[in-house]
Amino acid sequence: MAQEFAKAFYKSHAWQACRDAYVETVGGLCERCLRRGEVTAGEIVHHKIALTPKNINDPSVTLNFANLELVCQTCHNKAHGKSESRYEWTEMGDIKPPRSQSQTPKGSTGG
Ligand SMILES: [Zn+2]
Ligand SMILES: [Zn+2]
Repeated sequence: MAQEFAKAFYKSHAWQACRDAYVETVGGLCERCLRRGEVTAGEIVHHKIALTPKNINDPSVTLNFANLELVCQTCHNKAHGKSESRYEWTEMGDIKPPRSQSQTPKGSTGG
């Protein structure tokens, strides 16, 4: 299930810096919810063009803001076709068990 080829990429400083910068750029909110007028904290930076062993070393795909989308867990599941799953998918392709307790969303700090 885990995308082995992508593990090193997701651990790389280049990706983490890119991801953090992208989250800042879009204001930290789920872009899909925002389009519906809902304000939801973004949780995952999703690649619109899915990463593959062929493009994993291509920064124009992996580190391109135009290919990124900040989404919440629900929208990320939908992006990966897991609409009503009780399970959650991480950006690395791993599956997580359902959350047993509700967590407070990350509050908006600062203005
Ligand atoms: Zn969302
Ligand atoms: Zn994704």
